[in-house]
Amino acid sequence: MSRYLGSVCKLCRREREKLFLKGERCSSNCTLDKKRGKNGPGQHGTIKSKMSDYAKHLREKQKARRVYGLTEEQFVHYYEVAEKMKGSTGDNLLKLLEMRLDNVVFRLGLAASKKMARQIVNHGNILVNDKKIDVPRYQVKIGDVITVPEKYKASTVIKNLLEKTAPNVPAWLSFDKNKVSGIVASEPLAGDISHPINSQLIVEYYSK
Ligand code: SF4
Repeated sequence: MSRYLGSVCKLCRREREKLFLKGERCSSNCTLDKKRGKNGPGQHGTIKSKMSDYAKHLREKQKARRVYGLTEEQFVHYYEVAEKMKGSTGDNLLKLLEMRLDNVVFRLGLAASKKMARQIVNHGNILVNDKKIDVPRYQVKIGDVITVPEKYKASTVIKNLLEKTAPNVPAWLSFDKNKVSGIVASEPLAGDISHPINSQLIVEYYSK
């Protein structure tokens, strides 16, 4: 299945929840903040139905997939890896997703949205331990230092980002604004995840 290229606001309306897919712009100009946006998209979007258990599980999985901008195949791959790890599959899944390099770049405030973070990584503008990493799915490790090349550090993109945004850097990361440098201090805990996701519902979805 290919990556979704349509309106991201439609995805939020489908989940009937703000997924913040446009980053900071979602705080000031969101259709879901208006009454009409609370219905799902399409001609049946206004029908309010009680969700079955299956639908609840499916919707939570789809929500997580959309928050991290993954295709179904990519998401299933993460689930399979999480299942093989020690501990809770749900917690492992969220940890793997949260520790993707594109997500870390977004959470450090080096991108205005996760989509932008993916592009910045793809364009070779992120260094991990002084080495260019242009793979958004790269899994960061404790102790990794995330920086940007000197040329990019001087760009208006980075200057504007650092001037305008006050990133809410989670406890498992630290960020030095002057050096434009972040460090992975620990692994994220369940409460550190960027968007509320009930991973147990996802586990139940794939366990059926
Ligand atoms: Fe669109 Fe952002 Fe609102 Fe979602 S949260 S509907 S992406 S503006």
